[in-house]
Amino acid sequence: MIPVKTMEGQSVAILGLGRSGLSAARALKAGGASPVCWDDNPAAREVAEAEGFTCRDLRKPGAFDGVDRLVLSPGIPHLYPEPNPMVAAALEAGVPTDNDIGLFFRSYASQSWEKFDTMPQVVAVTGSNGKSTTSALIHHILTEAGRPTQLAGNIGRGVLDIDPPQDGEVVVLELSSYQTELARALTPDVAVFTNLSPDHLDRHGGMGGYFAAKRRLFSEGGPDRAIIGVDEAEGRFLAGQLAEGAADDRVIRVSAGRKLSGPGWQVFVRKGFLSEYRKGRQAGSIDLRGIKGLPGAHNHQNACAAYATCRALGLAPRVIEAAFHTFPGLPHRSQIIAESGGVTYVNDSKATNIDSAAKALSAFSSIRWICGGLEKEGGLAALNAAAGAVVKAYVIGREAAQFALQLKVETEICTSMAVAVERAMSEAQAGDTVLLAPAAASFDQYDNFEQRGTDFANEVASRLGMDSSGS
Ligand code: ADP
Repeated sequence: MIPVKTMEGQSVAILGLGRSGLSAARALKAGGASPVCWDDNPAAREVAEAEGFTCRDLRKPGAFDGVDRLVLSPGIPHLYPEPNPMVAAALEAGVPTDNDIGLFFRSYASQSWEKFDTMPQVVAVTGSNGKSTTSALIHHILTEAGRPTQLAGNIGRGVLDIDPPQDGEVVVLELSSYQTELARALTPDVAVFTNLSPDHLDRHGGMGGYFAAKRRLFSEGGPDRAIIGVDEAEGRFLAGQLAEGAADDRVIRVSAGRKLSGPGWQVFVRKGFLSEYRKGRQAGSIDLRGIKGLPGAHNHQNACAAYATCRALGLAPRVIEAAFHTFPGLPHRSQIIAESGGVTYVNDSKATNIDSAAKALSAFSSIRWICGGLEKEGGLAALNAAAGAVVKAYVIGREAAQFALQLKVETEICTSMAVAVERAMSEAQAGDTVLLAPAAASFDQYDNFEQRGTDFANEVASRLGMDSSGS
């Protein structure tokens, strides 16, 4: 645990008692603050009370009297589409907000660091898609290279739950826009921006607010190195704002589609080959084709971002290349779960938005596509443009008929996963890929995307007579 040292003797209200809320309560208490907890869900309050924390109904008038800070969970809106009433009351009472990430950045350096030869460093990864894969890949490469490292944030452990950093350690954090928007301190040593496409727009008051939330990771603390995906205008703008000039190698530009040139530091992939250029000279090159854990152009983008990060941390290209080959990939992200009779089965349940599903569709050929669920903002038009390799779509979800109407490929309304898998398998021929890439949230039929992916994997496994590989 990282005790929070900056709030000693102060009263801190904690709203939301999920993983991050409870770990903030523990870390605040360990650092000498007095946490006051609340969650609308009585079961969550019971867990906190059983651990000895005081719960107070923050909905009551005057609940924020004498409170110095409000720590929020990422799921609770603080501004848009409208502030949670308790947050509004705190703001009225002049109580500033923060989250576990802000508390972490102010607390992780400690006295014992004076004895270290190499200061611990924090790498923080944000972006619309590929954050988990990129973070896990950076962590995997560092582990393979024998560097002490911990993975935390949205993936791995809660950020305040990690062990105190050791000599030379690298803490890799995956940070969502909800987290970067709220954190009062954001001071990573290396910050990574993977890409940007519309998502969670209601929570950020539109695309500008969404980009601004991610940009804070670069503007608040001023990282020593910024790794920026420049395949969208926002990334190009951000790279331009952070660099003093074209040769400023505090910014490493990354592209998954274009050859980048110029006197600065660049990593890009073309036709499956990753190239690194620095000061106009080639510094590294890796053949990414055939790396099982990183299929498709979207994963090549993640590989470039992870490569650039590890280069910024001083690792050699051949060490990074060897680690690429042993990366197992992450469950529910373009994960090959079975191969049988010439048909490949791929679980990309995490493709909850249009962009990630479009990327999955372009990573495979001759696709029997299982899609649908709770539709997100932006409409499905961009998906149709990416659906060239789709043989047929099998649509699931409570609104399957409505979803199917918007697709331009042959569709069958299946509603349930069981029917979709059964139909896709019965029609699949050797060479086909049965791909779950829903392009929608799962909450109409499942608790979360993991449960949806596991259902898919179980359906496939039981029909193939295998043990379930779902996780
Ligand atoms: P995040 O943590 O940002 O949600 P993940 O690594 O969990 O990212 O991947 C989420 C979804 O996006 C998955 O469907 C995955 O296949 C897809 N994806 C992964 N990397 C990228 C990328 N660089 N660009 C677009 N989609 C991606």
